[in-house]
Amino acid sequence: MKKCPSCGYESNNNDMRCPECGSFYSKVIEMIDEVAADEEQKTLRGRCRRLLDSDDIKQAILFEWQQIKTDLSTQAWFALFVIFAFVFALIITVI
Ligand SMILES: [Zn+2]
Repeated sequence: MKKCPSCGYESNNNDMRCPECGSFYSKVIEMIDEVAADEEQKTLRGRCRRLLDSDDIKQAILFEWQQIKTDLSTQAWFALFVIFAFVFALIITVI
């Protein structure tokens, strides 16, 4: 049983919107907000905001770095490794 937050109409079906007034159930809105917050966390803007908001910038930067490292896939690390190896090989041959 779901109760519409705006008109109070109760419905048994699993619609995302109230059949009476057409407004979204609050749970759906919460879900959307959660997803938006989650997305925001991963954007550069979100990261910068958290860095600026934190009291201890150094700790925050460390935390963000940990997050970025876990976000990076193994493939990304492999690509980075190949690039470094290539640059290293170039330097060696030049020397
Ligand atoms: Zn309603």
